[in-house]
Amino acid sequence: MSYNSNIDSIELLRKAEKSLMYVTPRPSIVFIEGKGSYLWDSEGNKYLDMIAGWAVCCLGHSPDTMVDALARQAKQLINPSPSFYNQPAIEFADLLTKISCMDKVFFINSGAEANEGAIKLARKYGQKFKNGAYEIITTWNSFHGRTLATMAASGKKQWENLYKPQPKGFTKVEYNDTEALRQSISKDTCAVMLELIQGEGGVIVADKNYVKQVRQLCDENNILLIIDEVQTGLGRLGDMFAYEDYEIEPDILTLAKGIGGGFPLAALLAKDKVCCFEAGDQGGTYSMTPLGAAVGIAVVQEIIDLDLCNHVKKISEYFTKQLSDLILRHKVVKEVRGKGLLLAIGLHEEIANEIKDECMNNHLIINAPNTKTLRFMPALNISTVEVDEAMSILNQILNNFTGKS
Ligand SMILES: *Cc1c(COP(=O)(O)O)cnc(C)c1O
Repeated sequence: MSYNSNIDSIELLRKAEKSLMYVTPRPSIVFIEGKGSYLWDSEGNKYLDMIAGWAVCCLGHSPDTMVDALARQAKQLINPSPSFYNQPAIEFADLLTKISCMDKVFFINSGAEANEGAIKLARKYGQKFKNGAYEIITTWNSFHGRTLATMAASGKKQWENLYKPQPKGFTKVEYNDTEALRQSISKDTCAVMLELIQGEGGVIVADKNYVKQVRQLCDENNILLIIDEVQTGLGRLGDMFAYEDYEIEPDILTLAKGIGGGFPLAALLAKDKVCCFEAGDQGGTYSMTPLGAAVGIAVVQEIIDLDLCNHVKKISEYFTKQLSDLILRHKVVKEVRGKGLLLAIGLHEEIANEIKDECMNNHLIINAPNTKTLRFMPALNISTVEVDEAMSILNQILNNFTGKS
């Protein structure tokens, strides 16, 4: 990879500290290039990336198909405004409705916006068809985004008192608990909002029976089921959409992360009967840009053409087996969780952050969603050789940690 020795890393990091608003601690590294499952920093160091831009770069970093689509569409038309139709947005909506059980699509740019739109659509449906029902039932430990409403919808205890007052209208119940959900339904309930795997929550998988029972409860009570597939959608779990494996159909579906392959793009999808927005109810200056849609088409078409769902199923089996072997080898490893290429290992001790940092020092990028979990969400086209490389680094580091404790 081209290493640009003209970059003054120290100076860049000084500027970063001076000018970027602080929101989270970051390592003293500046990434300048990416290809496939690898990233390069400004010092020329190469890293194996097992988080893929936070489960977004599903085709790896800077894949040719995205670069071509971006260049082609940028030359042709970037944004005629959301007031007018454009060809890529029409074609992309058509493609998404063909590969999913959904009828209509609204495009925006982030998962939080997609979920915010889902909340609005469900409330509008409640106003129009259910005597003003507005309450949305969500689950503890869930993550639905960082707008005020999606933070209120999320089940993070530490967010309950942040940015008070919180938008009202969200009831939280335990995940995988049908009875708790049944008991929290009232005449004011318009929707249930659910992740099929709680990704940010630490890769907690929904039980199949639970999801089927939730679907049934929603049907019996005229309640909409919103499935948040921002993280699980577009092949991440080995099916194009996670709801397929659960053998249910949502009324509203939200997609982001993988849909843009790293480019900011998201979609709110719904069944016809739910689509009740009236003129002016929903919008956004950057909704349905041809540039975003052209990238989305390229990404989704590549997932289909390369049969990446099948690849994910196979490589997941390989990866899961290797992760399971860690349980026997290292006392600190408790279990393997997840599906497809959204995998995690649960630890007995609260040392996930230390292990993650040590991996980074050894040029392996992984994530610690909490102190007892290590998460892996690599590009969908990752190879067995790359999985082996990651496992070898991780094994070495776990050896050192076990040696210390
Ligand atoms: C990442 C995520 C979101 C938020 O998406 P942004 O693009 O960061 O706004 C919402 N829901 C789930 C399940 C996610 O994983």
